[in-house]
Amino acid sequence: METLQRSPLLEVKGNIEVKRPLPKPPSRLPLSGSRLKRGPEQMEEALEPEKKRTRGLGTKIAPSRPRAALLTAVPQTQGQAAARTAPKKTGPRCPTAVATVLKNQKPGPAVPAQKPGTAPPMVGGKKPSKRPAWDLKGQLCDRMAELKCCRERNQILDQENQQLRDQLREAQQQASTLGAERRTLEEELARVRVQAEQGQQELGRLSAQVLELEERLGTQEGLVQVLQREQLGLQEERRGLATRLEEQERRLQASEAALSDSQAEVASLRQEAAAQAVLLAEREDRLHGLEMERRRLHNQLQELKGNIRVFCRVRPVLPGEPTPNPGFLLFPGGPADPPTRLSLSRSDERRGTLSGAPAPPTRHDFSFDRVFPPGSRQDEVFEEIAMLVQSALDGYPVCIFAYGQTGSGKTFTMEGGPAGDPQVEGLIPRALRHLFSVAQELSGQGWTYSFVASYVEIYNETVRDLLATGTRKGQAGECEIRRAGPGSEELTVTNARYVPVSCEKEVQALLHLARQNRAVARTAQNERSSRSHSVFQLQISGEHAARGLQCIAPLSLVDLAGSERLDSGLALGPGERERLRETQSINSSLSTLGLVIMALSNKEPHVPYRNSKLTYLLQNSLGGSAKMLMFVNISPLEENVSESLNSLRFASKVNQCVIGTAQANKK
Ligand code: ADP
Ligand code: MG
Repeated sequence: METLQRSPLLEVKGNIEVKRPLPKPPSRLPLSGSRLKRGPEQMEEALEPEKKRTRGLGTKIAPSRPRAALLTAVPQTQGQAAARTAPKKTGPRCPTAVATVLKNQKPGPAVPAQKPGTAPPMVGGKKPSKRPAWDLKGQLCDRMAELKCCRERNQILDQENQQLRDQLREAQQQASTLGAERRTLEEELARVRVQAEQGQQELGRLSAQVLELEERLGTQEGLVQVLQREQLGLQEERRGLATRLEEQERRLQASEAALSDSQAEVASLRQEAAAQAVLLAEREDRLHGLEMERRRLHNQLQELKGNIRVFCRVRPVLPGEPTPNPGFLLFPGGPADPPTRLSLSRSDERRGTLSGAPAPPTRHDFSFDRVFPPGSRQDEVFEEIAMLVQSALDGYPVCIFAYGQTGSGKTFTMEGGPAGDPQVEGLIPRALRHLFSVAQELSGQGWTYSFVASYVEIYNETVRDLLATGTRKGQAGECEIRRAGPGSEELTVTNARYVPVSCEKEVQALLHLARQNRAVARTAQNERSSRSHSVFQLQISGEHAARGLQCIAPLSLVDLAGSERLDSGLALGPGERERLRETQSINSSLSTLGLVIMALSNKEPHVPYRNSKLTYLLQNSLGGSAKMLMFVNISPLEENVSESLNSLRFASKVNQCVIGTAQANKK
């Protein structure tokens, strides 16, 4: 740094030295002092010792001598002082300076300084001969010669003096020029110094910048290295990707080839599909036609079987019950044909023969659409009614009753045996499962079905919801049967739940709930469930959107109250009186049901639906377009023979009824 700072100045100095060697300062010049301006007398005086030395030498004295003599003429003290100060101080009297001024003159051999009073110096190596005292002329001559010589020398000295003055002037001019030059140079120097300072500052700033840049460079280099490494990584990756790309391209080409093949295939398949669609539409039309035909034929078949059908079911003897007489219940008919007849033998103790022997039992024969002997399974029973149930999907109202005395197996037939055993499932869960599965099949033909279930109980002419939940559980009398709307044929039970169902599980849950609700109402004296009608209704709605078809029909599955009569001969306590009222109510509703069926059968203008809550609620499931099935449940026990006969007689009456041709409830 220091060298850099100083370099411009040094350079300037160097330039000056090179271009213009500095002249010796004027102070070194010999002043035109008294010594040079001395007059001839003084010179003579000064030269006195030399006179003494050169006396006798005549003209042999060399012209260069006087200078040497002059130099020697400097007083010793002065000369010695000069000699002593010469190396240290450059004074005006310095002999070296004089010697420099006189440099153009030929130098003579140095003459050693002679002490005054000593012998005159040797001239030309010869000792001057001393004139005798008497030779005044000779002495005069010598003096004259000496004088002449002195004058000459004086003249020379004058000339020299003149020359020296000239030189001095010249030197002074030079000195002033040099002074001016020096000032210029000093100014220059000052400027250069300022410049140098600025340069220095600039340099400092630049150095700082350089440092900063170096730092940045370092950072950048680090970054570059990182980037280079990254670049290497990326290049590697790129190579990998390029390889993968190639692979993908190959695959793509293969895929494209496959795609074009597939497209061709698709095009041909489309054509095929279009053809198939046309075919399918035709088939669908045909299928629909066939379906409608099936419905028609199905209905015809049901009608041929009778719109009112009666099935008799005899329950088995339960464990602990007395085994009846083998001839008590008979099912005449061949083993190949399904039984349709039933004979019941009744021995009447009151009647006796004349001989006193017991009268032979009276045989009562009954014939129904179907008779199920005690061993019949639930699925066998259902099989017989499955087609009837299916009619409900075709838009025909269907109503199935279970009629019989308490304990004859009505609930077992309708709901089933103990819950959880699929073998003993009753008609309600089986019918619903069947409907769901057929509806599913029909959905393939464009039909969509929805099902809404309700389950109510009619006890003593009051309606109670068996699907009630929460606080409404067990409360009776709050439900009323009303028309769904003004002018509407549809009936609903107010405050009863109508639950949409779509699967078996939901139906099971509803049946479970109904069982629970019935249990709540049960009392010790009164098995209410057997004294009330349980009505399970399923509202079925089907729609064929594409053809704008709709069919709505109710399916009603009714577990009727026990048909037994109260023995009028018994004394009536408060419980019995209540029981009698119940029984009268039941009998009234059951006889109303019989009358309604009868009126429908006889096509009477007035059908007494309103005479009981049961017939009123079921009016849409009975009558003209409806299909009806009555199960008459019979106890196998001989002790129940009277009630069994009553039931069979009622059923027979119903069985004789024919309700007009059923009409599908289509819109
Ligand atoms: P109801 O409802 O007519 O009063 P239930 O259905 O309660 O009669 O039947 C009375 C008893 O007989 C029940 O224990 C029932 O399980 C049983 N039962 C009825 N029918 C059958 C049958 N077909 N097979 C086996 N047990 C039956
Ligand atoms: Mg019952």
